[in-house]
Amino acid sequence: MAASPHPPSPQPSFVVTRFAPSPTGFLHLGHAYSALHAWRAARDAGGRFLLRIEDIDRTRCRPEYTEAILEDLAWLGLDWDGPVRVQSEHFPDYRATLNCLSGRGLLYPCFCTRADIAREVAAIGGAPHGPEGVPYPGTCRRLFAAARATRIAAGDAYALRLDMQAALAAVDGPLSFDELGEGRIPCDPARFGDIVLARKDTPASYHLCVTHDDALQGVTLVTRGEDLKPATDLHRLIQALMGWPEPRYRHHALLRGADGRRLAKRDGAPALRALREAGMDAAAVQDMAWRGTP
Ligand code: GLU
Repeated sequence: MAASPHPPSPQPSFVVTRFAPSPTGFLHLGHAYSALHAWRAARDAGGRFLLRIEDIDRTRCRPEYTEAILEDLAWLGLDWDGPVRVQSEHFPDYRATLNCLSGRGLLYPCFCTRADIAREVAAIGGAPHGPEGVPYPGTCRRLFAAARATRIAAGDAYALRLDMQAALAAVDGPLSFDELGEGRIPCDPARFGDIVLARKDTPASYHLCVTHDDALQGVTLVTRGEDLKPATDLHRLIQALMGWPEPRYRHHALLRGADGRRLAKRDGAPALRALREAGMDAAAVQDMAWRGTP
C-alpha cells in the first residue's frame, strides 16, 4: 500500500472481519474461540471473513505452523474469503509507511540495547510501568543529528521509534475507539511512550503491520482477545496519523483453564490437532470452544 493510501472502502454496513494468528505454534482452543468469533460475525452479517498470517517475527514463526493453521481452520469448518495475506511477503509495504512517518519527522533511530534502557531508567530513579513495560526514557530522541548520522554510518544496529509527543501533536483532538457493546472508549497512547515501529531484527512491528493490513484489507470489525484492548490506543493513533479508516472493535474474553489462567500452549492447552487425533469431530471442538471448556 502506498504511504498515504486510499484503501478500498466497503459500504459502512458491510462487515469485514479477520483472524490474524502468529504461526509460533499449533492452534489451540483459545485460537478456535477467537477465530469463531470473527468468522461468525462476518457470516451472520453476510460479510467477509479474512485470514492473515502475522509472521513478521522470523525468529519465532515457522512455515510449518502456517500450514498447520490453514489445515486446522479448514478442519474446524471455517472458510475464509480471498487469498491469505502472509505478512512476511509484504515488508516493502510496511517500509513505505515507515518512510511516510519518518518523512514527517515522527520517527527516530534508537541504538539502545535492553541493558542501556535499564541503566538509563535506573539512573533517572525508575519510571512507572506502561502497558508494555517501562516506557522508553527517550535517550536516542535527544541525540544530535550528527551523532545519529555517525552511528548509522558506522553500521550500528537501530530500531525506529515513534516520537510520541510529536505524533500526538500531529493528530486532531483526543482519540477514541468504538467497542461494540461499550460505546466509545477514550485512548491514551502517551502511556506507551515512544514505541518501536521497526525493530533491530525485524524491519516492522506488530502495531504497524496490523493497522496497515486492517486498512489495506478493508477490515471494518476487529475481533480479538481482550489482552490486545490496550494496544488499540496505539492502533488508533497510527490510523489517525496515516489517514486510515477506523474499524470498530470487539475484544472478547480469553478462554481460561480450570486454574483460571488464560489458555496457553506452554500450560498444556490442547492443540486442535491433538483433539482431532483423539477422535473428536469438528462440531464437538467448535462447541467446546464456544463453551470455553478445554
Ligand atoms: N497476531 C496477533 C496474535 O496472534 C493477533 C493480532 C490481532 O488480532 O490484532 O496475538
